[in-house]
Amino acid sequence: MPTYVYSCPVALHGEFNVFMASYPDEVPKTAPCSHKVVRGITTSDKSTVREVRCGRKSKYVVKPIAAAIVRGGTGARKRG
Ligand SMILES: [Zn+2]
Repeated sequence: MPTYVYSCPVALHGEFNVFMASYPDEVPKTAPCSHKVVRGITTSDKSTVREVRCGRKSKYVVKPIAAAIVRGGTGARKRG
């Protein structure tokens, strides 16, 4: 299962992983932050604290994992 790393603009949230069911043709450039934040909701008679998703647009972070797979290559060497 492919995993992609995204970085939330909220520094405290940092990077998070997004799991995808299959390999997309093109990796989405942004994804909503899945970080849970506690938000206080105040109504006329009481205030409640609820856990909601951050949901901020987070940028896709390219990780050098693919480069590691390429390392070693075919073993063919050029002479000269
Ligand atoms: Zn966030």
